[in-house]
Amino acid sequence: MSKVIKERKDVDQSLTWDLSAFYSKEEEYNADVEMCKKLTSEIEEGYKGKLYTAENINECLDKLKKLNEVANKAGSYSSLSVSVDYGNRENQERSMKFSNIVSDLFSRLSFIDSELIQADEAVIEEAISNSKENANYLKDIKRDKKHALHPEAERVLAALSSTLGAPYTIYGKTKLTDMNFKSFTVDGEEHPLSFGLFEGEWEFENNTKLRRAAFEAFSSKLREYQNTVAAAYQTQVQKEKTMATLRGFDSVIDSLLFPQKVDRELYNRQIDLIMEKLAPHMRKYAKLLQKIHKIDEMTFMDLKLAVDPDYEPNITVEESKKYIEEALGVLGEDYLEMIKRAYDERWIDFVQNKGKSTGAFCASPYAVHPFILISWTEKMREVFVLAHELGHAGHFHLCGQTQNIFDTRPSLYFIEAPSTMNEMLMANHLMKVNDEPRFKRWVLSSMIGRTYYHNFVTHLLEAAYQREVYNIIDNGGSVQASTLNELKRSVLEKFWGDDVKITEGAELTWMRQPHYYMGLYPYTYSAGLTVATEVSKRIIKEGQPAVDDWREVLKAGGTKTPVELSKMAGVDITTDKPLLDTIEHIGNIIDEIVRLTEEIEG
Ligand SMILES: [Zn+2]
Repeated sequence: MSKVIKERKDVDQSLTWDLSAFYSKEEEYNADVEMCKKLTSEIEEGYKGKLYTAENINECLDKLKKLNEVANKAGSYSSLSVSVDYGNRENQERSMKFSNIVSDLFSRLSFIDSELIQADEAVIEEAISNSKENANYLKDIKRDKKHALHPEAERVLAALSSTLGAPYTIYGKTKLTDMNFKSFTVDGEEHPLSFGLFEGEWEFENNTKLRRAAFEAFSSKLREYQNTVAAAYQTQVQKEKTMATLRGFDSVIDSLLFPQKVDRELYNRQIDLIMEKLAPHMRKYAKLLQKIHKIDEMTFMDLKLAVDPDYEPNITVEESKKYIEEALGVLGEDYLEMIKRAYDERWIDFVQNKGKSTGAFCASPYAVHPFILISWTEKMREVFVLAHELGHAGHFHLCGQTQNIFDTRPSLYFIEAPSTMNEMLMANHLMKVNDEPRFKRWVLSSMIGRTYYHNFVTHLLEAAYQREVYNIIDNGGSVQASTLNELKRSVLEKFWGDDVKITEGAELTWMRQPHYYMGLYPYTYSAGLTVATEVSKRIIKEGQPAVDDWREVLKAGGTKTPVELSKMAGVDITTDKPLLDTIEHIGNIIDEIVRLTEEIEG
């Protein structure tokens, strides 16, 4: 844990991403920023107060598309430069300057949506039939109309947007700046602790004494800030309730599902079925961990242990290429071509360095190509992380070639389907290439301990808790730290039953996630993975026709609802069946891990 981490300037350049794909010179970036200003002025001067004819509407939206493309390119460039080195002041300043410029430009353009909402229905219809390119944008406007406020009220809310984002900012500052984790001591030896170290390393520590001591030190620091964070969170949910009421929704839950184009039934199904039907399988998995690690009493502090911590193959970036190409190549020639380009043209930032953003992500600027940030640890698990991010890349690369910039982004409900799909394809491939029981068990337990645990347990339990919070708010109540602790504890106890002791400190888990400031996000992880699981099973069973369907789904981008996209892939998410089948699939994998463990130990 005391590894020396390099400065950005000292890392191997060939393993960094090449941002010159955006701009070869700073002047080109500056020219794009000027272009954004120019286009905004043109739109404002040309169309403000004039969006009452179909012709003006479509001309204005065509210009807006152009502006979105340029702003998306310049914005991605400035924020990606920051993400690899937060210590670089020059990049920080460029990025901050750009976001100020852009928020000013787009607030000047808030008249567009307001005028469109006010426009005559027949005119909007005419504009829709005259432009396929703008049709979806305009259909969304029609859909939003019912919940729109008076233009002046919308303008005020837009002007207050950064103030209204304060709960999230306060949460982030508390967690990342104020919580000063001190080192902790076990048997006279001192160990460092931070938020990142706890979630990235200590939770997985094999030594039970160390792992539990880290948990206790971590929890006691969280506890010191519980009232501050609860106050920020109460402000957030109260704001969401007020907005919901203003916009004519009876429930804050409905208002948050509205932009996702998902109804309550789909939302409740994920939470209710997983809480009830997945729990027995996961308890069995917890029991297996308990047995393998010879733990007297299984607790919340022990759930992140690996099935086989001494066994994880190493892998270099160069070696990963073969696995990635073979596993994901089934998605087509052009998909394979994209993967080759990703390596050859340096779309991926693999290195580890000081000040680099943690975790992994994929950014897909519309007019360039995707960029992936990852911190390669030379461990085999990275092939899953990379396959996941390439799933986002493949999605936006394919739909970017098919759709205009208005139509690329699907509902949040669907966002994680293409990425987790690639994790499934990777697992299926790895199961084929090596017959050794220990390797197979490693692959399957990666699926459970990483992929399914993350999406179906961690984030789902957040979702179950979050629904309880919104129910209280919808009924006119409010929440404070003690309420949140009780809710979180009861969700954990319900899921894990008598098989896992929910130790002191576990109730504070609600303080760990930024998701609660992003609406109904947590439940969508399991939704995307349900679709991915079912489609990946179809690919194994049916081959090419299932691949072809999936490719069409990826190309469709944001032009369809989650129900429609799933249907195109042969999955009917209006019924319980896909989720029940996925849960059964998870149960089968856990049974197979138990069986392999007996084989290995026997
Ligand atoms: Zn993802």
